[in-house]
Amino acid sequence: MKPLNVIIIGAGLGGLACGIRLAVEGCKVKIFEKNHFAGGSLGSIRLKGFTFNTGAEYISAPFLFDQLYEYAGKRRIDSFKFRDCDPIFQAVFPDFKRFALYSNPAETVKLNPMLSGADLQGFNSFTEESAAIFDDIFFDYCGRPVDENTFRFRTNLWLRRMNPQKTCEEYANEKFQTPELQQLFGFWPLIGGGNPKSATHLFRAFSQMFQRWGTAVPDGGMDNMVQAIVRLFQESGGEIFYGTEVSEIQIFNHTVSGVRLKDGRIQQGDLVISDADAAATYRYLIDSDRTRYDSVNQAKTKISGISAFVYHLGTRCILQERAPLAPLNILFPEDYDRFLNELFDQKTLSDHPLLILRMASKIIPDNAPFGCEALSVIVPVPNLESINPWDHISYSYRNHVLDLLQNYFLTDIRTNLIVEEYLDPIIIKNRLGSHAGSILSFQPELQKNGEIRMANRCRDIRHLYLAGNGAHPGATIPGVLLGAANTVQVIKEDFDKE
Ligand SMILES: Cc1cc2nc3c(=O)[nH]c(=O)nc-3n(C[C@H](O)[C@H](O)[C@H](O)COP(=O)(O)OP(=O)(O)OC[C@H]3O[C@@H](n4cnc5c(N)ncnc54)[C@H](O)[C@@H]3O)c2cc1C
Repeated sequence: MKPLNVIIIGAGLGGLACGIRLAVEGCKVKIFEKNHFAGGSLGSIRLKGFTFNTGAEYISAPFLFDQLYEYAGKRRIDSFKFRDCDPIFQAVFPDFKRFALYSNPAETVKLNPMLSGADLQGFNSFTEESAAIFDDIFFDYCGRPVDENTFRFRTNLWLRRMNPQKTCEEYANEKFQTPELQQLFGFWPLIGGGNPKSATHLFRAFSQMFQRWGTAVPDGGMDNMVQAIVRLFQESGGEIFYGTEVSEIQIFNHTVSGVRLKDGRIQQGDLVISDADAAATYRYLIDSDRTRYDSVNQAKTKISGISAFVYHLGTRCILQERAPLAPLNILFPEDYDRFLNELFDQKTLSDHPLLILRMASKIIPDNAPFGCEALSVIVPVPNLESINPWDHISYSYRNHVLDLLQNYFLTDIRTNLIVEEYLDPIIIKNRLGSHAGSILSFQPELQKNGEIRMANRCRDIRHLYLAGNGAHPGATIPGVLLGAANTVQVIKEDFDKE
């Protein structure tokens, strides 16, 4: 490959993974990161002996990190290690009925008394049918770049076979009879920020990914893993400039020429990859007043994705649980339909939301001092386009989340709380630089042309490429790693031709 001058906006996982691959190919790669640290959504905070991962905690398809290291001629295991997690997660319903999903379906069947009769048949058929489509979705759809000419044609044929119009909720309702299992087996799109009531049933591929490769956490915290990846990038020859925000992507004659930094300096490059949120990239970093770009219009018409209220707590004792909790728990609310309606349609703050509860000290005991407990709660909430009084309501919402959480414990949490920190959508927006504080970029909705996110190669601005949450195939760690490989593949194709 030609030794190109590559500029990458953002040192999130997507930017770093693209940077490593291109540096290994002999390119001169500079990453400009607005924060004074790398990782974006991947990071950890350490407070008085407690460790909390600020964003992502669980890694599925961990072999994708091995592939990244192999690309650089190294072994991931020499740099950081993973710990397997099983069960993958446990769903807890309002009456404390529980359902744990294991990587081995036989374990799931054996250990969940809820699964019997027609539901057991439904589970077997769900598992079999999801396995049958998984390779197509993971390797053929997610693992290849979106391409104007070939991708659409190929996916249109392929998608028609899959009947993607059926929603995940509809699919689960056909397979299961128990309402709780219908909720659980329909909820997969929510992992990527999508609405189970409108997003395609193909999102159930998540369940299969968990079963195929399990899930893992990096030893020593997410920040430890990020530092290892930054080292890999630097050892491959790349440079990171921290505290350096990009304010504009410079375009002349429909072709990228470099970027303007917030301090006014211009940096020239043969190409620019944006790992910043795709919605923010198209809305704020491209001057579309002078020239109208289709891609900018397309990005503006996509639905902005959800945000989150993230609450980390450390207690002075081990909390006694009302019903046994797993390391990762999805706590379904009494009225799940109402919650989805409030989150995605009315876009209001729900009083009875679904909670994702991570028991950090059950995941890794070192995450809390001996005899203490570390927990994180993630509440999916509408983004700042619809709710923006967070500077007034954050503390009362924190109180409300604490009340909801208390239902799951016999020990009084408030009197035993010794550390806490919460991130509301405003803090998240400032940290990630995402449009409206969305955490996973656009709301994933399958378009007629087969796209769920934006293409890896910008369709009408030459030498502009996208990586990360908002680029095909989309959010979550495996999505972003697959996407980075896709983006580098199209860059190689483009510059080999020129
Ligand atoms: C609370 C939470 C929990 C999650 N849990 C999981 C999980 O358990 N498992 C999982 O697989 N995924 C999870 N995810 C999703 C996963 O973390 C993301 O999909 C992934 O980390 C996104 O990486 P990225 O590179 O696309 O973007 P980001 O991590 O958002 O990185 C973008 C980077 O770009 C920088 N930037 C933005 N604008 C500019 C600019 N103008 N100039 C310079 N720099 C800029 C930002 O500072 C940031 O560092 C979670 C996400 C959140 C928020």
